[in-house]
Amino acid sequence: MVKFVEDGEMKFIANGMLGSLARWLRLLGFDTEYFSGKDKYFLAYNARKESRMVLTRDRKFVVQYPVISLLIESENLRQQLKEVKDKLNLHFSPELFFTRCNICNNILQPKNISDVIEFVPEYVAKTQTHFSYCNVCGRIYWQGTHWQRMLDFIKSIESNE
Ligand SMILES: [Zn+2]
Repeated sequence: MVKFVEDGEMKFIANGMLGSLARWLRLLGFDTEYFSGKDKYFLAYNARKESRMVLTRDRKFVVQYPVISLLIESENLRQQLKEVKDKLNLHFSPELFFTRCNICNNILQPKNISDVIEFVPEYVAKTQTHFSYCNVCGRIYWQGTHWQRMLDFIKSIESNE
């Protein structure tokens, strides 16, 4: 398998049914595009152009483009993440978690409470101090109650259960 890592970071294009997998890879900090089109040639073209590994459930695609693609066999999100991690021998770096917009794949910018106070609910403004902002979609992220659940989920992928 060709090593796609040039700048120390693996980049992906998730294809077809793998939208949730794409969002979780972004949460983990991986540069992950999503391709929902039908044109397989165009998908392969984009993958090569941007040095991205194609994540797909399409066996024919993997047979046709073995060097640039990884077959995802499971339908279960947790198992899919585990497949990506194990098959590519990936390391999840906590310092990269939640640094990317999970909708746009854009790198988030850190913001202080004074920057966002007008835009977040009052209870959030009272309880949170660190925020991040996506300047593509305008979403503001903070370490809410879902945060720990997400970390627990990530941990469950990393353990060998
Ligand atoms: Zn965004």
